[in-house]
Amino acid sequence: MRRLAARGCTFVVERGAGQASGYDDASYEEAGAALVDPSSEQWSQADVVLAVQGSDLAQQRSELASLKPGALLLGLLEPHGNDALKQRFEAGRVTALALELLPRISRAQSMDVLSSQANIAGYKAVLLASAALDRYVPMLMTAAGTIQPARALILGAGVAGLQALATARRLGAVAYVSDVRPAAKEQVESLGGRFIDPPELDQKPGEAGGYAKQATEAFLAEQRRQLTEQLALADMVICTAQVPGKKAPRLIDDAMLQHMRPGSVVVDLAVAQGGNCEGTVPGQTVFRHGVQLVAGDGLPCSVANHASALYSRNIAALLELLLNTTAEGASSVNLDLDDEIVSGCLFSHNAPESAGGAA
Ligand code: NAD
Repeated sequence: MRRLAARGCTFVVERGAGQASGYDDASYEEAGAALVDPSSEQWSQADVVLAVQGSDLAQQRSELASLKPGALLLGLLEPHGNDALKQRFEAGRVTALALELLPRISRAQSMDVLSSQANIAGYKAVLLASAALDRYVPMLMTAAGTIQPARALILGAGVAGLQALATARRLGAVAYVSDVRPAAKEQVESLGGRFIDPPELDQKPGEAGGYAKQATEAFLAEQRRQLTEQLALADMVICTAQVPGKKAPRLIDDAMLQHMRPGSVVVDLAVAQGGNCEGTVPGQTVFRHGVQLVAGDGLPCSVANHASALYSRNIAALLELLLNTTAEGASSVNLDLDDEIVSGCLFSHNAPESAGGAA
């Protein structure tokens, strides 16, 4: 807020907005915001609305209907297939930016919410797995004998997977990592992980903009066959493999779980997208064949203070790009649709004219 106030923005914050992440109302007031109760009147006056999880706005916030035409809303909007929300915005002539659609380019790194939150998820997943595991993680030499280090298997070497690898290594685990993008190999090895090359099949999934494309069922079947042996040796498995906008690839099935050591742990970060592992249930921990399956949905919320701090810095960086500030200190939003950052995350655009400068 202080960063954006320096650019001429004024703020109203809903009372209690930061409570769950350790920021009390007084700290917003100190930073210059006016505290308000949620109301349609406040929403109708806003030029910009900054949301966190915006996907359920259409159902849960009647205030959405009060936004003025040309207002800008930004947040994590789960844009893939969220036609109901898009239609609501278009009907109200609201411009919305979905942060999930931000292009993964160097210039946008400071705005990259998916990265800041995935980093947290990868870190916390390993802590959860370590806490649930019935073994030590590091190698220990004790008077009672030597303990071998735990073996971690990480599926997917994107932002969450690489952070999971780094965290597992810091705890002393030996880590194996599978990904289908060739570029991931070098990144994995530079963090001390051992890369599992994807199956050598003609129909290997391609890559677009740094993301893996969806694999064919034949490829996934071969990948599962390859991973069965790795799973049998693993103490903890961290599942992070995803394809944007698609169901998560199924990399572990029930038969593979039967080959795992009872007492081992699987944390599935892809559970909300259907799961990399059969049997994981959103929001729950369940046991199958003695293996603990931990749902890894919403993990950034469990590190809420830092998740919030990083999210706000991402948002501030994006808004700084969008704001035009005059010499007199007045600011307005200027959406440059030729900028790939703006056009990339544009979810709906119906502004009849540019919006002004209060959030
Ligand atoms: P993601 O969450 O969409 O997917 C996670 C990982 O799962 C990816 O590495 C993907 O290749 C992998 N995956 C997909 N199908 C798989 C399968 N069948 N088996 C194993 N792994 C599979 O990805 P992400 O973490 O959002 O990162 C996507 C890319 O963006 C990465 O290349 C990352 O380095 C890059 N990135 C770039 C920037 C930047 O330059 N600004 C910022 C962040 C991320």
